[in-house]
Amino acid sequence: MSRHTTFHIGGPADAYLEVETEAELAKVCRFARRRRLPVFFIGWGSNLLVRDGGLRGIVARLRGEFDAVRFDGVRVFAGAGVRLPALVSACARRGLAGAEPLIGVPGTVGGALVMNAGTREGEIGDLVKSVRVLDRKSLKGALLKRRSLRFGYRSSNLDKRVILGAELELKPGSKVDILERIKNLQQRRLQTQPVHTFNVGSIFKNPSGRFVARLIEEAGLKGARCGGASISRKHANFFENHGGATARDVLDLVRLVRGRIRRRYGVELEPEMRIVGEA
Ligand SMILES: Cc1cc2nc3c(=O)[nH]c(=O)nc-3n(C[C@H](O)[C@H](O)[C@H](O)COP(=O)(O)OP(=O)(O)OC[C@H]3O[C@@H](n4cnc5c(N)ncnc54)[C@H](O)[C@@H]3O)c2cc1C
Repeated sequence: MSRHTTFHIGGPADAYLEVETEAELAKVCRFARRRRLPVFFIGWGSNLLVRDGGLRGIVARLRGEFDAVRFDGVRVFAGAGVRLPALVSACARRGLAGAEPLIGVPGTVGGALVMNAGTREGEIGDLVKSVRVLDRKSLKGALLKRRSLRFGYRSSNLDKRVILGAELELKPGSKVDILERIKNLQQRRLQTQPVHTFNVGSIFKNPSGRFVARLIEEAGLKGARCGGASISRKHANFFENHGGATARDVLDLVRLVRGRIRRRYGVELEPEMRIVGEA
């Protein structure tokens, strides 16, 4: 799985598949059901720490027809496999505003919906009109309307679902303004985050009313290292894999930070990255 995550960390999957159509997806799920195999869906792998023992069962990534984007006025229909930066750029080219906060999130629509990805400027949940999911019984597509969807801080009620795509609603805007906003957001990210390293973005969620990066920095942990993983000197809520880091190294760092922050501030940090697989 180190080949399928932005952390470049993770033991083997029993099977890795790229699924290109809904018909193929139904086949894979039927096969897995008969053999009682779990199926784990991944997007860009940008929020995943896969443990060193890897993942049992099937790991599936949606591509092919799930990579399609279609526009209808201010509505955008995007498959679960569509990458957010490409989606934001396509919206900008059409003069559609609202998706810019997602420009620097290296995730797919599927992963972003599960996580309600975003920034202080806005989250994907703000834009969602409906989500297409796989009905686990019939193995056919089913539509979840906005009123049945719940989005919170890096969370949603789509966790146990297989996401096929989403309908988003944007606002008409000036192309020049949208592109300017995108440029500013990208520049800010380059200045403040180690975007060119192997990482998974924020390791921990911000505790209410506080910035976890500041707490880690104040606790003197910037640059702390376990094996091949370290706490970024650029942004203390990012951990970097310097090549050859194991999930164990990252989890050792997680333990170190949580312990120090608990003792110093009485705050219990909750991971934002998803930790999956066997030790
Ligand atoms: C440099 C960097 C910067 C980042 N900045 C941000 C940021 O500003 N804001 C932010 O919110 N996040 C940020 N992230 C984290 C990450 O990009 C987001 O959480 C993103 O939404 C994850 O999407 P993904 O497609 O990579 O999902 P993955 O990491 O592949 O998976 C995440 C979860 O979604 C599930 N999933 C994925 N696709 C499907 C599907 N089709 N059906 C069902 N479940 C699915 C997986 O099973 C898993 O539970 C950053 C990461 C990096 C590396």
